[in-house]
Amino acid sequence: MKIEIIPCLQDNYSYLIIDEKKKIACVIDPSESDPVIKYLEDNKIDLKFILNTHHHYDHVGGNQKLKKIYNASVVGFEGDKHRIPEIDIVVHDQQNWKYENFEAKIIHIPGHTLGHICFYFYNDKSAFTGDTLFSLGCGKIFEGTYSQMYESLKKIKELPDDTKIFCGHEYTLNNSKFCLTHDQDNKHLKNKIIEIQKKLQNNLPTIPSTIKEELECNIFLKANNVETFSKLRDLKDNF
Ligand code: ZN
Ligand code: FE
Repeated sequence: MKIEIIPCLQDNYSYLIIDEKKKIACVIDPSESDPVIKYLEDNKIDLKFILNTHHHYDHVGGNQKLKKIYNASVVGFEGDKHRIPEIDIVVHDQQNWKYENFEAKIIHIPGHTLGHICFYFYNDKSAFTGDTLFSLGCGKIFEGTYSQMYESLKKIKELPDDTKIFCGHEYTLNNSKFCLTHDQDNKHLKNKIIEIQKKLQNNLPTIPSTIKEELECNIFLKANNVETFSKLRDLKDNF
């Protein structure tokens, strides 16, 4: 399966998961429809599903138009069926969602919002973490508790080391500065920052990251109790 990164809005990423043989795709978190439509039309691919990690407008903004044009089905968490626009199919925690060659495990990861989920495409070793785990950071806690967010990150941490992480925003450089402030002697982090800067200078996304890199470099994943995690989250909010 091919994964195409579609930059949207200011700093959002939507992702297309493409079955190249069948010329069909799923889109994860279409912030807006136009860039997604452009890619699909240029490459003559039909859109089958719209998968939403959570209900925020910068993740569902393209739902309505994409559904109308492609007759695609919107997939979202059962607890968010009242606030994900145009939702057709509800999924629940630990469910395996399947359609032809698309296969993802649903992992409920509350904290940023109460209905946030991760789509883990295990055959492709890829996890779509929305606004919960960012590269070198994590999402703000808007609806859940610190302990919910801590537990949600723990679930993501348990995925295999070589899992690719596709998150909702290009926040990596700013996140790296916060990590460095609290982890000044981390060689892995310093090397990753050099890579990040190179990519950004060439106008390339810093995504995907991997679980291995995040475990080595992401200060929020290094916190091994909820107290340390909460302190870091508060400091980051004022960074
Ligand atoms: Zn969000
Ligand atoms: Fe967002």
